[in-house]
Amino acid sequence: MNKKIVILILFVFFSALTLLNNNGQIKGATDNKLAVYFLDIGQGDATLIRTPAGDDILIDGGPNNTLLQKLGEYLPFYDHKIETIILTHPDSDHVTGLVEVIKRYEVDRVLMTRVYSDSTSYLSFLAEVEKNNITVEVIDQPEVVDFGGGVTFDIIYPLENLVGQKVDSTNNTSITGKLIYASTTVMLTGDLENEEELAARHLDLKSDIYHVGHHGSSNANDLSFVSAVEPRYAVISVGANNHYGHPNYRTLKNLEKVAAEVFRTDQLGDIIFASDGSSWEIVK
Ligand SMILES: [Zn+2]
Repeated sequence: MNKKIVILILFVFFSALTLLNNNGQIKGATDNKLAVYFLDIGQGDATLIRTPAGDDILIDGGPNNTLLQKLGEYLPFYDHKIETIILTHPDSDHVTGLVEVIKRYEVDRVLMTRVYSDSTSYLSFLAEVEKNNITVEVIDQPEVVDFGGGVTFDIIYPLENLVGQKVDSTNNTSITGKLIYASTTVMLTGDLENEEELAARHLDLKSDIYHVGHHGSSNANDLSFVSAVEPRYAVISVGANNHYGHPNYRTLKNLEKVAAEVFRTDQLGDIIFASDGSSWEIVK
């Protein structure tokens, strides 16, 4: 083929990629912005984070394969790589959707506690992680994880090594931390129900966005914790008409007391925020 034609084709191809990147194909994740997608996957959690550098982090995967459809919608068509998966805890409403993601995407690393659970979906997840030779980083103490592009995840819980341990409540093993991009922050607690103990430790919990604990259950979201986070925005990942009665009335009351603006996936579908490092834009 003529050299000029090859150059022209390459130019058109890369121009198209740039246009797709900048014109909302990836809603919210424009240049130099951090985007956080609280995905509406029914009763469960699945949160996608896209860094300003274009790296993808998934925190939990929801109870089914709705996640695959969502990733297809929000990731650029050429992006088949998830840089980091964080599994907060092994319950099926958090782990199930991740199994197919690992089969279909290239995943660099998985962060988890490796606490014991015999749930079928968790065992399938562990088997896929092993089969695909994915690097596992065990979270066994507070630490700061660098996502690149100026984005970090400041993990404040768990405090101990839980590898292979049988526990009374897997909820209380949930990896909990603060996502930080310059002066903007998001508090993520999974299904942690011991959150009032974190409040008692006088950590700097204050965050702009609070991913409301345990789908808005009253077992989580103690007023002492919610007051310490003092969020401007509260996002509840919850399925419509779920039989747990989530979100609980008391949780909603506590959020009201701190004047947080509440966003619910059962009412709004996917909820997307984007940060330029100094303030948040509500994309959807
Ligand atoms: Zn859950």
